[in-house]
Amino acid sequence: MNAKFIYECSDCGRQIEAGDIIYLCPECSAKQLPDQPPLGILKVIYDYSALSELTFQELEESHFLQLLPVNELNSFPNLKVGNTPLYKIDSLDGKVNDFELYLKDDSQNPTFSFKDRASALVSAFAKENGISTIVAASTGNAGSSLAGICAAQGQKAVIIVPAAAPKAKLTQIMMYGATLIPVAGNYDQAFDLSIEATKQFGWYNRNTAFNPLTIEGKKTVSFELFSQLKEQIPDFIFVPVGDGVILSGVYKGFEDLLNMGIINTIPIIITVQAAGSSNLIDNIGKKEFVSTPSHTLADSISVDIPRNFKMATNYITKYFGQTVTVTDNEILKASSLLAKNTGIFTEPAAAAAFAGFLDYKNRYLIPKGSTNVVLLTGCGLKDLNAVQSLFEIPPAISPDMQSVEKYLEANSLIA
Ligand SMILES: [Zn+2]
Repeated sequence: MNAKFIYECSDCGRQIEAGDIIYLCPECSAKQLPDQPPLGILKVIYDYSALSELTFQELEESHFLQLLPVNELNSFPNLKVGNTPLYKIDSLDGKVNDFELYLKDDSQNPTFSFKDRASALVSAFAKENGISTIVAASTGNAGSSLAGICAAQGQKAVIIVPAAAPKAKLTQIMMYGATLIPVAGNYDQAFDLSIEATKQFGWYNRNTAFNPLTIEGKKTVSFELFSQLKEQIPDFIFVPVGDGVILSGVYKGFEDLLNMGIINTIPIIITVQAAGSSNLIDNIGKKEFVSTPSHTLADSISVDIPRNFKMATNYITKYFGQTVTVTDNEILKASSLLAKNTGIFTEPAAAAAFAGFLDYKNRYLIPKGSTNVVLLTGCGLKDLNAVQSLFEIPPAISPDMQSVEKYLEANSLIA
């Protein structure tokens, strides 16, 4: 078996050999209480001192394989996962920025979301371990991602989703040939069912955080950012947060580089949650976790019990992370401003990160000359309903030039 890494428990700190497939720390998960975030989420740890002689360039040339829990690059799907564009935006609404703003556009992944980073790694690991069926509970993006990646790899995907997930995501899952199981319930119920199914049918489980490799897949975004910013770390990174797995992934990537001595500090990462689904932020530092039912149009980050609560909040505390919540109205406005100013149409969860950035900007919290990154995690075409309230598609006109002229006049495009 793979001996290049071990696991470390986020709760008790116990280190566990990476032998048989394992999801949670057995000691901590045995103490799990209902309606609480999962105990015993595992973190993958490498032998950093043995790797410390490698330069970043050498890591990059080998596609960071030394820092991934798989052995062969050809275990990954032959789709282009990651290496997404980082766009520099010089002005917003006609005003030149006095800071640097970069947008990391992860809607450019094969299934149009950031989740492909995790799916590709989980799928590669399954391939190296002779597993052919992978199951996931999902609010939509992780499921459509796993379905697409499994299609590329000739693996079977079983996706359990709340029936209320956006139609585009459900359509994607079906098109990729996965087995879709919609449940008349919420994400948390889908999550529990997928774990029962994993035990009963012996499938591999891709559930976010529950499977520690999802974080390892997601961390690659930080390696890319470091490379794209010419081996500099940004001052601020705005990350949309539901379960806290993408957030932990971003931290983990930088922490790996810190542990190898490639960087000497971690950027300030801003956790952005929807005001109607802020269970991670609201419970930081609390003795007892209390969940409030989520209500937000940003379905990808609508979460009652953040699955990676412990690890994410450990990171936020350890590396002085900041937090902000944004209303659905702010998310919609940010979505529109982003699309009109940059040509990037994101789904509401990604727009939430941009709304968090705008909130900081409006409160003069973005220092002059600072370097800022907003992580855009999914494509707007995945949830057209969410932005419908922003405009109405105009009624049809007669197909003649007179009508065109009349229409243009009415819209002040010609006098
Ligand atoms: Zn433990």
